[in-house]
Amino acid sequence: MNNIMDWIKLKAEIRAFGAEIGIDKIGFTDALPLTEHLPLLLSRQNAGYRFAINEGDPQKRISPMLHLPQAKSIISVAVAYSGHNGEKPETAEPVRGRISVISQGTDYHKVVRAKLTKLREFILANIPEAQIEIFVDTGEILEKAIAVKAGLGWFGRNTLLITHEFGSWVSLGELVTDLPLPADEPCPDSCGPCRRCLTACPTRAIDEEKNINLDRCLACLTLTKALPPAEVREQMGDTLYGCDICQAICPINQKNGAAKEIQGSIALDEAYPILLDILQMSNAEYKKRFGHTSGAWRGRTPMQRNAVIVVGNLQDFSAIPALKAILAADSRPVLRAAAAWALGKLGTEQCQDALLKALAVEQDNEVLTEINLALYNKKKGPQDYGTPFSS
Ligand code: SF4
Ligand code: SF4
Repeated sequence: MNNIMDWIKLKAEIRAFGAEIGIDKIGFTDALPLTEHLPLLLSRQNAGYRFAINEGDPQKRISPMLHLPQAKSIISVAVAYSGHNGEKPETAEPVRGRISVISQGTDYHKVVRAKLTKLREFILANIPEAQIEIFVDTGEILEKAIAVKAGLGWFGRNTLLITHEFGSWVSLGELVTDLPLPADEPCPDSCGPCRRCLTACPTRAIDEEKNINLDRCLACLTLTKALPPAEVREQMGDTLYGCDICQAICPINQKNGAAKEIQGSIALDEAYPILLDILQMSNAEYKKRFGHTSGAWRGRTPMQRNAVIVVGNLQDFSAIPALKAILAADSRPVLRAAAAWALGKLGTEQCQDALLKALAVEQDNEVLTEINLALYNKKKGPQDYGTPFSS
């Protein structure tokens, strides 16, 4: 291929093949360093904003050529996903918790990677000597910035990539290549004066500069291992895993159809599991039930810890025996600490007795703190359970 028309023709062929294999949007951009994003990444560090688990070195994230030295262009793709968003089971009982749309169904990393692998093979069939690296949401490169530059969508105030057609309900991926594919036009910012996501966020995690404070974001806190800070536990509401609030409120998502369409065979029970089942779930049951989802690699503990918090928030008194069992005998301190908090929220005599029994035998400092706080908060109620923080 020697002239620009050949590359333009190849772009059209890539787009057509991508559509055939279920890639919803494809854009092209150069592989030059995204140096304009470095100050933002560094300012996040300086502001104390923690990076997400899978984010790498800022210099490498802005520089595709540090991953493929001969890189000349990037093919950026978006695959729309959907699931149960907002609709709840008809009955209030048994009490259930909500799983975010991206965490329902088959792991989107696998879906997008499979499509990118096919696209790579298609290009190699045309140009066998091409060098092509696949990236799918691994945090190694700035994929949202690349998608904006490639014209797929814009960087919303909720920090997500928003497409005109599918809103933010898209998974991204990239092929970084040494082929000199001509770049598309970037997509202009289209949020306008809207600020709905900022005001809807229950923990006020989003700021005006398009940063999300991951120490306050439920999408992060409900997936990681530590106990969420006390001040955000009530704000979790019925959040069992992940958070869609700043997406569900976005007018672009509401006007497009993708968010309401339910693809595949995602059962409502998979999106809104019964909390008691989650509390009592063994490792083997977790793998059977959630092993195919994007969060599976994190194991069952974060989901069970969240379930404990949510039964406290939703005042699910049927869960008290399960909470007592966790506080008394679960080997995981984070589960026992969450159970102490939830029993304190439920606040019955039974709960208080369980907390006092645990106070006498518990050895872990974080759990002891939660037990004492639960008892201290109750002390402000009708019964006095003694001096706080004594053991
Ligand atoms: Fe806030 Fe939830 Fe959006 Fe995080 S995912 S910024 S907690 S609304
Ligand atoms: Fe932009 Fe409004 Fe959507 Fe937030 S809710 S991302 S401000 S359009």
